Amino acid sequence: MLQASWDSIVSHSTRVKAIRTALRRDELPHSMMMLGPRGIGKRRIALCAASSLLCKVSKPGSFCGECHDCRRIWAGTHPDVISVRRRLATDSVSKKSDGEGKESRFIAIGDEDEPISNLLHTVRGMCEVASLKPFEADRKVFIVDEAERMTHEAQDALLKTLEQPHEDTYIILLCRGRHAVKETIFSRCSVLQFHPLSEADVATVISREVPHANPDDVRLASFFADGSPGRAIELLDENLRDEIRAFFEWFTALPLSSPLAHAESLIARPEHEFGPRNFEPIRVRLELYFRMLISIVNAPDRCPCADVANGWAISLPQTARAEIAAAALEAIADLARNVRAQFVLDYLTTRILSYVPKPGRK
Ligand SMILES: [Zn+2]
Repeated sequence: MLQASWDSIVSHSTRVKAIRTALRRDELPHSMMMLGPRGIGKRRIALCAASSLLCKVSKPGSFCGECHDCRRIWAGTHPDVISVRRRLATDSVSKKSDGEGKESRFIAIGDEDEPISNLLHTVRGMCEVASLKPFEADRKVFIVDEAERMTHEAQDALLKTLEQPHEDTYIILLCRGRHAVKETIFSRCSVLQFHPLSEADVATVISREVPHANPDDVRLASFFADGSPGRAIELLDENLRDEIRAFFEWFTALPLSSPLAHAESLIARPEHEFGPRNFEPIRVRLELYFRMLISIVNAPDRCPCADVANGWAISLPQTARAEIAAAALEAIADLARNVRAQFVLDYLTTRILSYVPKPGRK
């Protein structure tokens, strides 16, 4: 379970201060959007805000983390704090292990591995619940994960609820990027932009969440996490480490490899080969690779992986490295727009090859 306290938030101090001040004054906006990359702590901050709204023990702007309300909020079982999110592999387990003997409260928007094609039905369900009185608290809070994946129809269905939420209702949209979200949604929310953490802050979070991790692995994960502790913790997974090693080898040998053959092998692998079920599917995995590529080209001299540092990345001119980073960012945006992974990878690989030295001309 996540550590339940405002003090557990690393970085984001300006945003956290603004939220807590608004809570103390009972002025928290009823429709909020927390905007920023995956794995940087938006959900934890949303849970802290929900707890501060519902905890009756602590003074406004704080929560105790220990009362019946707080414990159920962090276990995902409070009837008035409703997650709108994909179903996770751990959900069936949490029914029994949440300590409260209740089912998790969430509105599922499909299974973890399913692409989300249409959230319209879910959003309508959420709006219906939003129009009702809270079950037992004075207020209710919706936390909508991955709001950027709502279709435009689903976003339209949400507009009215966002514009005039019930006075006891708070809606917090968690969103990874602006590109897929309509302006009308933004204009109805208080938008808080969250930024990636520094490498040192990422390491601080890792040392707390994964206290027994090998220091070399922590260094590697912090470097490649692109400011996202969530991503760094995924990188510490043993299965993933092997993949990262294979990825390094691919990049180290890049000028000589066939880009298409590599793309085929990555995409053709069945889903179950991508580690345990609680890892997100190939789209997210590819994004991780692309962000690692950005980390390498941005700072090849500091890359903790010597074979890459001594390989092609460090020898590239600064302009080529900037072009590769830009191409990788575009590829990430394409993935978010649900462009076929195969196509994104082929295109990126072709672009990278145009920036690196041709084989035989070393
Ligand atoms: Zn409490």
